Amino acid sequence: MPARQKYRLRARSDREIVREVEPGMTYVDAESGEEFEAVGALLPLAPSPSELPYSVENLRLCGCSLEQLVQNDLNDCPHCGRRLPAVER
Ligand SMILES: [Zn+2]
Repeated sequence: MPARQKYRLRARSDREIVREVEPGMTYVDAESGEEFEAVGALLPLAPSPSELPYSVENLRLCGCSLEQLVQNDLNDCPHCGRRLPAVER
């Protein structure tokens, strides 16, 4: 289970990466040498059973009457506890 929060990091030249961040560490863009600045925390906030961010391509309907969007890598719906069918890729 991922316990670390992922952040969106941005360099001056607007290059962005997403990664887990250790407090007090400095992250530098390997290509430009620019220092990254954290511009936002990624949803879902840690700790979450899912590795995937809440973006449309990573979500599907769980299929129950609650009609909640759940992340593709989850085995069980976090809203109703229903077992989710395997993802077809
Ligand atoms: Zn559900």
